[in-house]
Amino acid sequence: MPVDSSQPYDDQNIFAKILRGEIMCNKVYEDEHVLAFHDIAPLAPVHVLVIPKGAYVSWDDFSRDASDAELTALSRAVGEVARLVGADAQGYRLLANTGKRSGQEVAHLHVHIFGGQPLGPMLAK
Ligand code: AMP
Repeated sequence: MPVDSSQPYDDQNIFAKILRGEIMCNKVYEDEHVLAFHDIAPLAPVHVLVIPKGAYVSWDDFSRDASDAELTALSRAVGEVARLVGADAQGYRLLANTGKRSGQEVAHLHVHIFGGQPLGPMLAK
C-alpha cells in the first residue's frame, strides 16, 4: 500500500528492521546518523538507498523535524556514497519518493541514488 506521509512512524517497516540488525543489508556506508545499502531489486547498475537512522517517514517530516546534525549528515552522506560507488564521474540521479502520489512503498525516508547508465527522461510519460 502506498505510504501516506502524514501517517505516524511505524517501527515495523523493513528499513527499521535493517537499522535494528533484524534483517541483513548489503552495506555501503554508515555513520552516526546515516546508513546506506544496495537496493535489493536494483533498477540501474548503481542503485543505493541512503537512510537516516532517525524515525522519519519521508522527506516531509524529516525536513520539518530533523536536527541540523541529521539534515547535514544525510546531505553529506548522499554525496559521499555516490563517490564511494563511483557514480559521481558519469553522473547520477537522486530520488526521494514522498507520500501517496509518489509511489513510496517503504515508510522510512530513503534517498535513492541511481547511476551506472544513461538515466533517460526525468519522469515516465
Ligand atoms: P520506494 O518505492 O521509494 O519506497 O522504494 C523502496 C525501495 O526499497 C525499492 O526500490 C525496493 O527494492 C527497496 N527495498 C525493499 N526492501 C529492501 C531490502 N530488504 N533491502 C534493500 N532494499 C529494499
